[in-house]
Amino acid sequence: MTSDYYDVIIVGTGPAALGAAFHLTDAATSLSILMVDRDRICSGGLLNDCKQNYSYPIGFAAENWTREEAERLLPLVEEKLQPVFKEKQNVEVYQKRAERIGVSLLDVRQAHVGTDRSRLLIQRLMSELSARGVHILLEKEVTDVFDDADWSGITIAGAEKVRGGKVIVAPGRKGFSFLQRIMERMGIGCIDNIVDVGIRLETTLNNYPIVNDYYDPKFYFPDGVRTFCTNSGHARVTIERYHEFNLVNGHAFSEEQAGNNLVNFALLKTIGLKDPVRSGQQMAVFLGRLAHEIGGGKPLMQRVGDFRMGKRSTAETFNNDLYSFRPTCPVTAGDLGLAVPAKIMRHIWAAMKKLDTIVPGILHPSTIMYYPEIKMYANKPSFLDRYFRVSGHLYMVGDGAGTSRGITGAWASGIRAAEGILRCM
Ligand SMILES: Cc1cc2nc3c(=O)[nH]c(=O)nc-3n(C[C@H](O)[C@H](O)[C@H](O)COP(=O)(O)OP(=O)(O)OC[C@H]3O[C@@H](n4cnc5c(N)ncnc54)[C@H](O)[C@@H]3O)c2cc1C
Repeated sequence: MTSDYYDVIIVGTGPAALGAAFHLTDAATSLSILMVDRDRICSGGLLNDCKQNYSYPIGFAAENWTREEAERLLPLVEEKLQPVFKEKQNVEVYQKRAERIGVSLLDVRQAHVGTDRSRLLIQRLMSELSARGVHILLEKEVTDVFDDADWSGITIAGAEKVRGGKVIVAPGRKGFSFLQRIMERMGIGCIDNIVDVGIRLETTLNNYPIVNDYYDPKFYFPDGVRTFCTNSGHARVTIERYHEFNLVNGHAFSEEQAGNNLVNFALLKTIGLKDPVRSGQQMAVFLGRLAHEIGGGKPLMQRVGDFRMGKRSTAETFNNDLYSFRPTCPVTAGDLGLAVPAKIMRHIWAAMKKLDTIVPGILHPSTIMYYPEIKMYANKPSFLDRYFRVSGHLYMVGDGAGTSRGITGAWASGIRAAEGILRCM
């Protein structure tokens, strides 16, 4: 049963929401708190693979975070997520090779849970919050948020209204349209000019052995291209479903599971849009729909061998001869050249050549290039203060509000909103 008033209402149960809830209950045990999520279990990266990066700037939006601010909060994130850090080896060797050709490799503190074990982590976190008296409402969609002169709060599907002294909205990337609608109605200014567009590569461990030394190596190439979200061990490429198109993503199971000797990771190019095109979301939708059309309703995949020869991959030849392993996400074998904008493809291909020089193997003909992998970085609201407040009693945090790009950054963003709320109590 829901009460009709809570001191704080949190929309979402992802890492941003959890960061806020834990920080609030650490500091003020008497606060009444409601968390609402439309799903049964919080989704996204906490559930899939759950690799955690504990080094700035990974996962932090530079415009909202200084190194000092991130490093102040990362220990608090660590305290709650209790990561077991991965050992790294030979990082300097790879760094030297990279530097020689104008590429940098960041040395990041990382932990990896694995998709099979992340549910246990989520269950531990949720039971801890319940034990602290937080009321958690799952499988309920929040359809609106209010912050008027006389009341602030939310509407839950089925027209139930709940008032809240403060409201934190943390609906993640999939909550993009929901946030956009609220901001438009409330007249909250925002910008949406960044989008990351790229491909996901899948290959054998032999062709990318660096992952035995460094779980998720963060390479930064010229032209705004970087490696992102590397998975290995028992790794799989997956589909991220949206309304009008599908994107690809990837995850891996924990080390306890038998490996499939495959690796996957994304190569993304960051695009900063300027007049007259300003909406990263719109661009993502157009690109996603184009790929959807060309792929007959599915993402595309092409072997590097075919790409280099300028010919499309076909379903019949996809696993022939040199193409020794089967795709973990069998989508439409085709021609990326028809779907990826030329400039983006050129810069990604240049990055792949550099990567193959640093870690020889990735350009093996069997490597699969999946498209599209696109990260929409939200309608970044105009914040009124450093606590991510957007109006009198309303805060917006996490990937959906563009304050983070990963689990740890999202969790830290939630802490910052909680700090803002606690200052007013
Ligand atoms: C497949 C996949 C793998 C990933 N792997 C990693 C990884 O390994 N490491 C990493 O750092 N990051 C990873 N990410 C990114 C990571 O998931 C995000 O950075 C992080 O989860 C953002 O946290 P958040 O709290 O902002 O949003 P989310 O985690 O997306 O949580 C938002 C929550 O709000 C709920 N919600 C949305 N709208 C409503 C509504 N209207 N009413 C009620 N509830 C609502 C959603 O159901 C969701 O549970 C991955 C993402 C995906 C999709």
